Amino acid sequence: MNIRVIVGDITKLPVDAIVNAANRSLLGGGGVNGAIHRAAGCELLKECMTLCGCETGQSKITGAYNLPCKYVIHTVGPVYYDNGDEPQLLTSCYKTALAIAKEKGIKSIAFPCLSTGVYGYPKAEAAQVALKAIRESDFDGEAIICCFCETDATYY
Ligand code: ADP
Repeated sequence: MNIRVIVGDITKLPVDAIVNAANRSLLGGGGVNGAIHRAAGCELLKECMTLCGCETGQSKITGAYNLPCKYVIHTVGPVYYDNGDEPQLLTSCYKTALAIAKEKGIKSIAFPCLSTGVYGYPKAEAAQVALKAIRESDFDGEAIICCFCETDATYY
């Protein structure tokens, strides 16, 4: 597996799959989640409504509609409270997303910096968790970490 770090807008990437930093409702929201839903169009919300939400640390796949990628893998990162289980839950987000990608034959997948926005996960720690989880997975394509700014990219 190949890991690449880039700076950019994840909604613009023509990869096989992008990962959405969703919430448990899977019905849209702010941040990268809002950007993905706006760019995909309302058909994405319609498909998400059929999924009955998603638990923290788990992932579900949908089509990508007006996005340039083929699929969106929605994962629900932990809110950071510093109560101990956040690293396992964040690890599970990366691993479950990559397991779905492998099952679907996806060869390129892009992740935003999960949980590091409004969910408050410290960026340096989240970067360590992300890299370890990706390296430990048996996904064999290209995993792209799509940072929204240069500063975020330095953590990777
Ligand atoms: P969370 O609720 O998981 O913390 P956020 O959407 O608040 O999710 O933030 C997650 C990360 O996504 C942050 O690093 C934020 O800067 C980044 N982000 C926001 N919009 C985009 C985008 N269009 N492309 C890539 N990353 C984005």
